[in-house]
Amino acid sequence: MKTIDELLRQGVEGKRVFVRADLNVPQDGTTITDDGRIRAVLPTIKALTGAGAKVVVASHLGRPKGEPDPAFTLRFAASRLGELLGRPVAFAGDTIGSEAHSAVAGLDNGQVAVLENLRFNAGETSKDDAERAEFAARLAALADVYVGDGFGAVHRKHASVYDLARLLPSYAGYLIATEVGVLRKLTDDVKRPYVVVLGGAKVSDKLGVIDHLLEKADRILIGGGMAYTFLKAKGHEVGISLLQEDQIPVCLEYLARAEKKGVEFVLPVDVLVSADFPDLKTKAPANPTLVASTAIPADQEGLDIGPQTRKLYASKLADAATVFWNGPMGVFEHPDYAEGTKAVAQALVDSPAFTVVGGGDSAAAVRILGFDEDAFGHISTGGGASLEYLEGKTLPGLAALED
Ligand code: ADP
Ligand code: MG
Repeated sequence: MKTIDELLRQGVEGKRVFVRADLNVPQDGTTITDDGRIRAVLPTIKALTGAGAKVVVASHLGRPKGEPDPAFTLRFAASRLGELLGRPVAFAGDTIGSEAHSAVAGLDNGQVAVLENLRFNAGETSKDDAERAEFAARLAALADVYVGDGFGAVHRKHASVYDLARLLPSYAGYLIATEVGVLRKLTDDVKRPYVVVLGGAKVSDKLGVIDHLLEKADRILIGGGMAYTFLKAKGHEVGISLLQEDQIPVCLEYLARAEKKGVEFVLPVDVLVSADFPDLKTKAPANPTLVASTAIPADQEGLDIGPQTRKLYASKLADAATVFWNGPMGVFEHPDYAEGTKAVAQALVDSPAFTVVGGGDSAAAVRILGFDEDAFGHISTGGGASLEYLEGKTLPGLAALED
């Protein structure tokens, strides 16, 4: 993979450099609640502006339906980027239209323009190769060189991630280079014990990685929404908890394989339950009940791991040499269900192991709950991307930078 250092050695003064970033930040209305992903691309942008490039930054935000939708404008992320860079950035209200062309034409050396959400165009995410290629060609008209630095999107075969990288001379930015370096440490020659903690809400997305981790990890700790499908698979009732009934056979197969391979597979022993999902806006007290994970009442749902499980997981993390964590242990957005996630974060902070946190919400949780980012080995900006890498899949956005 050629990196941006090689590009800088060749010189970029006056060149238009398209930076495919991942500015897909969580927002509450017009307020950005966690700007980690914007900060993560700063080294690349600063290096390019410092070398006199005309920098064109593009990203997706959320999942608009292939047409402009003001709920997903990148305008606010663009102005935060300007604040963090300490200089104004131009914002184009379209992606390949007249605003984009005039914003780019107006750039002096060392200046930055941000384009509107790439996903306002159907061509960005299209499964039709020709439609994607057409959109990519129109993006290519805006730049001379491509720098891929949107790690959170490299598992997507999207026009700006894959096709465009193959149209222009392309290089990996610092973020992607760092992320790939870290993930390599989790796959090649990993230091043991290697402990993996998985949680979050996207159960089916995350079951796939277990398949691969059963060959790599020494211990797998399960929390969050996916715990309930495993508990159900073991014959326990889970009430109205998150459940993917169709995944039960897969869960059973994993449990059997873990046993055969001697991989320790740990499920919650106690959980906090409630009849109602908490109000994340008002944060009104949720008054959960603590129950054994084998005794969840029929009308209740599990929303966090309990205190015994927190202790158990901390002890299972204490002797680790390598830790990968993806997915909150509970609905951490509500203070009554944040303790499980906090306990795991604290265990990682206390551990001398090489610790990696992956996943948009997990990374945001760590920051929102007040942990110092530097206390972790690495906080990945990509959830799906890091999981697919660990699954051993080919990631289109990385493959395109290899060619
Ligand atoms: P990441 O972005 O880190 O990969 P996910 O997107 O999979 O994580 O999941 C994060 C979400 O999971 C959070 O919004 C959290 O509220 C939710 N969650 C965690 N535990 C549960 C649970 N037991 N029931 C429902 N939602 C949960
Ligand atoms: Mg998420």
